[in-house]
Amino acid sequence: MTPLIIAIDGPSGAGKSTLGRRLARELGLLYVDTGAMYRAAALAVVGAGVNAVDADEVARVATRARIELAGDPDSLRVLLDGRDVSAEIRTEQITRLSSVISTIPAVRRDLVRRQREMGEAGRGVVLDGRDIGTVVFPQADVKFFLTAVPEERAKRRFDEDHAREPDLTFQDTLADINTRDERDSTRADSPLRIAEDAVVIDTTELSVEQVFARMLEVVRDRQVT
Ligand code: C5P
Repeated sequence: MTPLIIAIDGPSGAGKSTLGRRLARELGLLYVDTGAMYRAAALAVVGAGVNAVDADEVARVATRARIELAGDPDSLRVLLDGRDVSAEIRTEQITRLSSVISTIPAVRRDLVRRQREMGEAGRGVVLDGRDIGTVVFPQADVKFFLTAVPEERAKRRFDEDHAREPDLTFQDTLADINTRDERDSTRADSPLRIAEDAVVIDTTELSVEQVFARMLEVVRDRQVT
């Protein structure tokens, strides 16, 4: 049997990882947080002391980095060259850098290849990112595109990040979200866009429960479980 593949794309803070984890847990599938892979690659670049504008060097470091996702969807750990970097990849610096290096085609090519391998290896997978339904798995069984207005997405991100970084203001978070959206949507290679056959859910006014119920209904309707 070919593995079930569920793609979840959308901008930052739309609820992709929360819903992706829940869906994977509910359906007993692997969960792949592709953003965490770009973040781990960015951390490797910092560790190597490479300047982010040097695309060749960034790609060299990123492609050599050993990136693993370990554990259950709810307690996913990100390992870089065997070291647990789950917390380190969530800093503001790495958030910004991951967005920058994700515009480099050689970096994308390498991470997309790894994501395909992960998806094809198991008995089914939920992947969340920006280009899953359009580039990584255009033949995915179910594709979702989650979105929400920028202010709501910034509010969710700020609530999460503020405890960790007390100096952070809501305006910083909103500005960061807008910059990353712009970069993700305008990059030449695999920009963020809605796949033709994606189910679009605007989560602005919805609770996690409501979005989850809707997603589960879509998956079940397709009778792919
Ligand atoms: O989803 P998350 O915010 O953790 O992703 C970090 C960055 O990685 C994003 O800002 C985005 O630019 C990039 N990314 C990407 N393609 C993906 C996943 C993430 O370009 N599939």
